[in-house]
Amino acid sequence: MSEMTNITTEASDSPVSNKTVLRLDDVRKSFGNTQVLRGISFDIHQHEVVALLGPSGSGKSTLMKCVNLLEQVDDGQIWLGNTDITDPRADQDKIRARIGVVFQQFNLFPHMSVLRNVTLAAIKVHHWSKDRAETRAMELLERIGMRDKASAYPDQLSGGQQQRVAIARALMTDPELLLLDEITSALDPMLVGEVLNMVAELKAQGTTILMATHEMSFAHEAADRIVLLRHGVIAENGTPAEVMDESQDPETIEFFSHFR
Ligand code: ADP
Ligand code: MG
Repeated sequence: MSEMTNITTEASDSPVSNKTVLRLDDVRKSFGNTQVLRGISFDIHQHEVVALLGPSGSGKSTLMKCVNLLEQVDDGQIWLGNTDITDPRADQDKIRARIGVVFQQFNLFPHMSVLRNVTLAAIKVHHWSKDRAETRAMELLERIGMRDKASAYPDQLSGGQQQRVAIARALMTDPELLLLDEITSALDPMLVGEVLNMVAELKAQGTTILMATHEMSFAHEAADRIVLLRHGVIAENGTPAEVMDESQDPETIEFFSHFR
């Protein structure tokens, strides 16, 4: 763990700094006899977009839930900046404020307006004043062109708009890391583009993102790095070209052949 002391070092001439935002170190997680994560280690640097790929059931969601403290790791460590978030003494609410999360579906409460949805956690969990939360929420809704939907209810929005609101909500506390777990998988194909465009905009603004996705062309185009999970371990960790085009691993080639 001695390298943890170096994480404030930044390469001044590089657009991609080398500050480590997230570090997984030999993370293990089982459910009963099923070993889902069998020693996962990788880093995410500031401003990096990392696509987490793998077949259904390969543990992408479990990994993200461990990062978001919705699941406890059995073994290994997860660092968010300098904080060991797997330390049972860590302050969970504080850590969650530093990580934004969007899931595949059911992100918004149907009986609450967009504004209420976006401000709720900031007010209830992070103890922001209503004023502060609403000012920040309106600013985020403005940025995604949805200021005029602040008092609308989720069922008055398209699925794509709902996911964009969910992303705005995840950005409320200006998190160091954004976790996106298959956020376009439940959408009509027509609506996928607007959500992916928003992710691309966030990337352009320097947001650090870990995203599980099956959108292979987007991953190829937008991700800085691909981490491919298989049988509970990392099968590949490299640039999109290295992993998706150049890997000689038969199982990797087989996996990507399903998406061509
Ligand atoms: P992915 O997101 O890659 O599709 P998941 O992380 O959802 O994969 O699931 C990985 C494996 O862990 C699957 O076999 C799944 O059935 C199992 N699993 C996930 N969550 C639980 C749970 N809470 N209890 C028992 N098994 C689980
Ligand atoms: Mg999943």
